[in-house]
Amino acid sequence: MNRAALYKISYGLYIVTSGQDGKFNGQIANSMFQVTSNPGSVAISINKENFTHELIKLSRKFVVSILVQSAPMNFIGLFGFKSGRDVNKMQNIKTKTGTTKVPIVLENTVAYIEVELEKELDCGTHTIFVGNIVDGDVIGNEEPMTYAYYQHVKGGKSPKTAPTYVKDEPTAASVQTAPGPRYVCSVCGYVYDPVKGDPDSGIVPGTRFEDIPDSWTCPVCGADKSKFELA
Ligand code: FE
Repeated sequence: MNRAALYKISYGLYIVTSGQDGKFNGQIANSMFQVTSNPGSVAISINKENFTHELIKLSRKFVVSILVQSAPMNFIGLFGFKSGRDVNKMQNIKTKTGTTKVPIVLENTVAYIEVELEKELDCGTHTIFVGNIVDGDVIGNEEPMTYAYYQHVKGGKSPKTAPTYVKDEPTAASVQTAPGPRYVCSVCGYVYDPVKGDPDSGIVPGTRFEDIPDSWTCPVCGADKSKFELA
């Protein structure tokens, strides 16, 4: 089996939120698609270990907020590489509630879909949740983020709980030649490439890792500079 074939599958990038009674959480998901048009339904694949999985089971509803291409890595990292069991991810995020009363993420998103859970399919490590669309709207006019853009342009990785996770996943950043050495975050796998810098955090392209201020943190997971190793 050539696993590279799987890298040719196209995906988007979404924040799935769920919960009830003041207890809410959100996580990044790339496995989401529309199942039927009439009535409108969508499916998502969520890891059983994730807090959001627990909340979807409990509340039987979820919201899919569609990320824009310009969403910064630290915003994606908050939802993708931190657990809602450890931090309140929703605390400083601009949201609103609609029909389902589940938070709709209004930052770095272009549209949202509110869903009531109808069916679930046990897939081992993951559950596929299928639900009816009860509401939704377009809230911006930016291009939506694709998973390919996240990986190849932003240098993003999959967390271990993603359906598409593979160990030592190749990214464009890991194969391109750079004038200075690349460094990898030992916590989340983000690769700092001096060619690209980290413009979201004010590190201009061409900055060597050694020259980044010590106050800088991993744009994906928030780890200290000391957690980085030579790639
Ligand atoms: Fe990291």
